[in-house]
Amino acid sequence: MAEYDYDVLVIGAGPGGYVAAIRAAQLGLRTACAEARETLGGTCLNVGCIPSKALLHASELYQEAASGHLTKFGVEFSGVTLNLDQMHAEKAKAVKELTGGIEFLFKKNKVTWLKGRAAFQDANTLTIGDRTVTAENVVIATGSSVTSLQGLEIDQKVVVDSTGALALPEVPEHLVVIGGGVIGMELGSVWRRLGAKVTVVEYLDQILPGFDEEVRRESAKIFKKQGFELRTSTKVTGVTVEGDRAAVRIEPAAGGEGETLQADAVLVAVGRRPNLDGLNLEAAGVQLNERGQVGIDHDFRTNVANVWAIGDVAPGLMLAHKAEDEGVAVAENIAGHTGIVNHDVIPSVVYTNPEIAGVGLSEEVAAARTEIKVGKFPFAANSRAKTNRDTDGFVKIIADAKSDRVLGVWIVSSLAGTMIAQAAQAMEFGATSEDIALTCHAHPTHSEAMKEAAMAVQGKAIHI
Ligand code: FAD
Ligand code: NAD
Repeated sequence: MAEYDYDVLVIGAGPGGYVAAIRAAQLGLRTACAEARETLGGTCLNVGCIPSKALLHASELYQEAASGHLTKFGVEFSGVTLNLDQMHAEKAKAVKELTGGIEFLFKKNKVTWLKGRAAFQDANTLTIGDRTVTAENVVIATGSSVTSLQGLEIDQKVVVDSTGALALPEVPEHLVVIGGGVIGMELGSVWRRLGAKVTVVEYLDQILPGFDEEVRRESAKIFKKQGFELRTSTKVTGVTVEGDRAAVRIEPAAGGEGETLQADAVLVAVGRRPNLDGLNLEAAGVQLNERGQVGIDHDFRTNVANVWAIGDVAPGLMLAHKAEDEGVAVAENIAGHTGIVNHDVIPSVVYTNPEIAGVGLSEEVAAARTEIKVGKFPFAANSRAKTNRDTDGFVKIIADAKSDRVLGVWIVSSLAGTMIAQAAQAMEFGATSEDIALTCHAHPTHSEAMKEAAMAVQGKAIHI
């Protein structure tokens, strides 16, 4: 039997890779994790989920204080000022604590951290920096990077990607966001709340692709109320940078007369692509799928028996919790157990205010597949939302008309990101809308809107 340095070598220490490494070590496998960055945690902890949520939280606090919104609750401020350096410092502290936390977990679980960039020599042999290691199993968890528009250079000063937008040293007067997806709306919200004029240029006729149509429409209405300018069905045809300003040329997506937007900052947020550069996959014989992702089977195994792939580099939603669940499952599979991820029940959340969340099928997709029933309940009729003066949004439950099984749940609410977990669990348990309707929910809570939406599926909501 061949002797390897490790039973498992994971490439990349993002939410997919670090979780896979920890679980593999917990299962008794000799595990190492190669990471090219100086710190663990990948995109999510260093330049993604965590710093963006830190700024979303801080900017919301600033806006609440500065806008006078709190005066109606009897909380009065004067002389509210923004200390952007302090906001960035607190964000950096959260990132440092969390990335340091992964380092602690690696030590605790005896995962060896191999610092450097990994490249395959063959399916069992890799170089990491100037050292060569062998492993019986290799997990590719190299994540994804931002894509740009053809010919548009991201200089991280005037034209930034999400990483640059998380570190702007000043609030831009006018921020043009190219792409009305999750990153565009979250980071657009940060800078809008801090005082920037924000224009979102989106190629499609609605923002937030992949979300339920009604949710997309409702969200756009709310963002417009917050002062966003949404230029949907519009394409960017070029960006010219001169000094510290940019001219963004746009025209209708269907063609027609163009115009130019002047901006102090341009955020490019048009999607992400798998990280494969320098991995030398050919040496291992690993094949990509037609979308340029690492192709895998149901067990996360590539076409090469001892090489596996998870997270953003593999097919599916580019989300940290999807990567984490795949990390656990792939380690279980490598150890000879059964690791499963139900890709039909992965929640998505946009952490704006209100938050926008969904799990399962949208109404349109569900209706195209089968006969459905839909129940909806607005937060304007929810007592806690009314008490908190927080009535934007609704809960919508889509159920199979015959079996009543829940097929999808969509929520627009300040607490949508937390509430969607209940829906995911119900769906994972194969719940019917009646199961949710018959579950006692505490009063007064936003969660009662979930129960009422479930009751509305049968036409039996009480409070509307
Ligand atoms: P990554 O986190 O990208 O980690 C891959 C790691 O591999 C990186 O650290 C990289 O340095 C390393 N690597 C790559 N190649 C090599 C190599 N050859 N050798 C060694 N190391 C290598 N998702 C959510 O679910 N919720 C959110 O709120 C959220 N917010 C986001 C906000 C922003 C601004 C961005 C950009 C993304 C956000 N995401 C969010 C998406 C989330 O960050 C990703 O889905 C998640 O990080 C994917 O995890 P991963 O482990 O697959 O890859
Ligand atoms: P996205 O796919 O969510 O949105 C990109 C948007 O850009 C789309 O609406 C698309 O139509 C538009 N677009 C593409 N080309 C365009 C063009 N030339 N002109 C105008 N618009 C154009 O991608 P993203 O916002 O960059 O996010 C990348 C990934 O990161 C997503 O897959 C997302 O899952 C993940 N992410 C998740 C969270 C979260 O879970 N809260 C937060 C941030 C990022």
